[in-house]
Amino acid sequence: MTEPIVKYNKVTKYFDDLQVLDKIDFEIQQGEKVALIGPSGSGKTTFARLLMTLEEITDGTIEVEGEYLWHEKNEKGELSPASTEHLRKVRSNVGMVFQHFHLFPHMTVLENIIEAPITVKGKKKKEATKQGKEILDKVGLLDKADVYPAQLSGGQKQRVAIARALVMEPKVLIFDEPTSALDPELVGEVLEVIKDIADQGETSMLLITHEMDFAKEVADRIAFFDDGKIVEDGSPSEILYNPKSTRLKEFLERFM
Ligand code: ADP
Repeated sequence: MTEPIVKYNKVTKYFDDLQVLDKIDFEIQQGEKVALIGPSGSGKTTFARLLMTLEEITDGTIEVEGEYLWHEKNEKGELSPASTEHLRKVRSNVGMVFQHFHLFPHMTVLENIIEAPITVKGKKKKEATKQGKEILDKVGLLDKADVYPAQLSGGQKQRVAIARALVMEPKVLIFDEPTSALDPELVGEVLEVIKDIADQGETSMLLITHEMDFAKEVADRIAFFDDGKIVEDGSPSEILYNPKSTRLKEFLERFM
């Protein structure tokens, strides 16, 4: 088997005295789509934010394509905290789409999309624009390239946010409840775009969601979080139709 794209090894996270993640081991393989489900407050978002380096790890290690994210290894094989530069380099393989879009309000849709390729990747404006337009076309919003986010619906904003993450060509794309801030009638268009990306296959995906039908359709695997631990991890049919733990059974009764 090839090396996993993402590997968590005994990952622990505290916020002051509050333990949020408890020695979690977890892997995502190349191209694999993994959904994270579980009660609110069980640690899913924190788990994902560690991979995006938006929270600091307390203990354990995370590797992305075989490179430590939070640590650097010296010649003796000892680990020390990563330098900012190392962190930035390894982290550039990871992209994230948030609940609340996080678009720059003072930039047009196209400017939002080409900003990171130009400033982070050093792309020329012309090349970034060409690529940005191709990706906007992919999410069905090429005609909105020159408008500002305020002129878009929530579903369109989220599709721009997805395009902005995609343009960086991440190895892993994290979606943190991407439809939970949307009016119900706008959920479908966003899920469809995510499904299209999943169907294209190359990008590994970590998807935090309460949409069980969608998880079943898109995910190769589902991990169930409870109280800072992954309690069950398996195929969608194992997790959704053959839950083993009482906690997962109770959780599913509420959602399905
Ligand atoms: P989930 O995504 O499963 O709802 P979270 O990862 O958001 O869970 O939260 C897990 C726990 O960590 C919750 O008890 C939450 O209140 C706490 N938490 C999350 N972020 C912070 C923070 N920045 N500071 C303190 N506590 C936090």
